[in-house]
Amino acid sequence: MPLPQALVVTCFDFRLQALLDPWLLENLGHGNYNRVALAGAVKNWDIIFSQIELSKRFHHINRLLLINHEDCRAYGAESHYERHCHDLRQSRQRTLEHFPDLSVELYHLWLDGRFERIE
Ligand SMILES: [Zn+2]
Repeated sequence: MPLPQALVVTCFDFRLQALLDPWLLENLGHGNYNRVALAGAVKNWDIIFSQIELSKRFHHINRLLLINHEDCRAYGAESHYERHCHDLRQSRQRTLEHFPDLSVELYHLWLDGRFERIE
């Protein structure tokens, strides 16, 4: 069994699942990634970082996809686009401080199904 290449971090929100599954299949392939689903995605950084560390140690992933989304209840009134972009970028920076060889991709998922790549 080949090792997964990527770790995907998303919110656990049920509204995302029907959007995520086909997108992940198209972009990463079936069974080719580890997946963490936690309320607020990168909002709970300590937990997320522990999962990145374990994914790297156990499966030697080389790619990390961080996906926050529109109208995230874990962010409440703070769930606006700029806040998500800020948190995603900060998470990428913190990740690269520990794992500079990891390719980190950031996405803002709109509830209409668009995955916006954040640079
Ligand atoms: Zn959410």
